[in-house]
Amino acid sequence: MAASRDLATDPTLQEALLTARRGTEFFDRKLNELPDDAFQAPSLLPDWTRAHVIAHVGYNARAIARLMKWANTGIETPMYSSWDARNAEIEHGATLAPEELRDLYTDSAAQLDAAWRDTPPDAWKHQVKTAQGRLVPASETVWMRTRETWIHAVDLNNGATFDQIPTDVLKRLLQEITGAWKSRDEDKDLLLKASDASTVTELGDLDSDNPEIITGTLADIAAFAAGRSTNGITSSKQQSPTAPRWL
Ligand code: ZN
Repeated sequence: MAASRDLATDPTLQEALLTARRGTEFFDRKLNELPDDAFQAPSLLPDWTRAHVIAHVGYNARAIARLMKWANTGIETPMYSSWDARNAEIEHGATLAPEELRDLYTDSAAQLDAAWRDTPPDAWKHQVKTAQGRLVPASETVWMRTRETWIHAVDLNNGATFDQIPTDVLKRLLQEITGAWKSRDEDKDLLLKASDASTVTELGDLDSDNPEIITGTLADIAAFAAGRSTNGITSSKQQSPTAPRWL
């Protein structure tokens, strides 16, 4: 999966592709560590088994590959025909045998990677639509996939943690989540403060006179904001803080 075989020439995009591929490898590693008889056990996501997570990540790669096809051909091919269709596909996928789920993951990841690799510089700028209906340049699909693989590897619930996610990914994730809160007016008086060895990152309601300050490491704060965990988190105002919903 060497970046040098990509048709993309923009260095920022090449770097983003590298991070996405590292996410794919990370998910792959955790999936390989998971024995077949553990697939039906709970993931970290409510109501989803690990099989649901694996099916979702596989179908997500196919859906993003459809966006790359759209960017390359100009023929509108949405990620999913509807939200119900997306959910039904995941429910069906969760009933597949472990061997089939492993194949789904591997094949879909390879399909998406080939689509990225063969996309010329101009097509990366073409507009496509996210599952939420937002118009974005095709280059955004790289981040969309990056987010999925790193976080859902943790959701597999077999040992991956937010500490293992690259700092740049955690930062962008936090910006995206706190941005979503702000757009829904749900971040009032909530300030996230990540204190790591060398830097302090503050996000949320920066203008509040009397904010509830949530502190932890960047990884802990990101896990909290994503609704995954409250480990390592302290609040200036309450014992057990909960984050507003993300999506
Ligand atoms: Zn997802």
